[in-house]
Amino acid sequence: MRVNYKGLDSLSNVAIVSDFDGTITDIDTNDLIYFTFGGQPSYEIEKLIAQGKLGVKEGALQHFKRIHLTEQEFLSFIFQNARLDEGFKDFCKLLSEKGIPLIVVSGGYVNTISSFFEKEGIDSTNIKIYANRLKFNGRHIEAVFFDESDECESGLGPCGNCKLRRLRELKAQYQTIIFIGDGTTDRCAAREADIVFAKGRLRDYCAAQGVPYVPFDSFHDIIHFLQYFLTICK
Ligand SMILES: [Mg+2]
Ligand SMILES: [Zn+2]
Repeated sequence: MRVNYKGLDSLSNVAIVSDFDGTITDIDTNDLIYFTFGGQPSYEIEKLIAQGKLGVKEGALQHFKRIHLTEQEFLSFIFQNARLDEGFKDFCKLLSEKGIPLIVVSGGYVNTISSFFEKEGIDSTNIKIYANRLKFNGRHIEAVFFDESDECESGLGPCGNCKLRRLRELKAQYQTIIFIGDGTTDRCAAREADIVFAKGRLRDYCAAQGVPYVPFDSFHDIIHFLQYFLTICK
């Protein structure tokens, strides 16, 4: 394992960028909705997205043509099935104590993310959410996109709300970007972040491509890493 510590001489000019689904939660809340309510075509769509043949944006439009739920039904189904990472609350507490901003960048929906934080009693004053939005009209659902452009800046194929694009914008404001993720659409950002925490398919990708990363299972692992740095940077 190689870790890129470039620029990390303190945590004073650091921003932490994290994926939401499968990273902050145990399961992907979008897949949960798509596969439960979208039937077989939703599996086909997600397969194409995972292969980089279809953008997240186009995929979402296709999913929600066949999915009919009120916002209440949508959110309660997610609340019943998805769990927060066991270390995430402590992680948020540490970041607000140290004044380190957390930016959640997701190809999913701000409706889910902010409601989830609220339900879990997470103080989100230190958290920014860059995600798409769902407009509910009765049981009709329309996705509104954070960034209409679907192309990945790294040329890795369409990724929807490209995380690399968000990362580069933040890079102009912060010296060091720590990126946390688990999936396919996290790849482009992982390649340019200063420090990467990876699990799941992103870990496999980083290992195979020689992208330096720190493996993690829960946010407690990331807390330990940050506390270690805070100690040696004193
Ligand atoms: Mg994910
Ligand atoms: Zn991208």
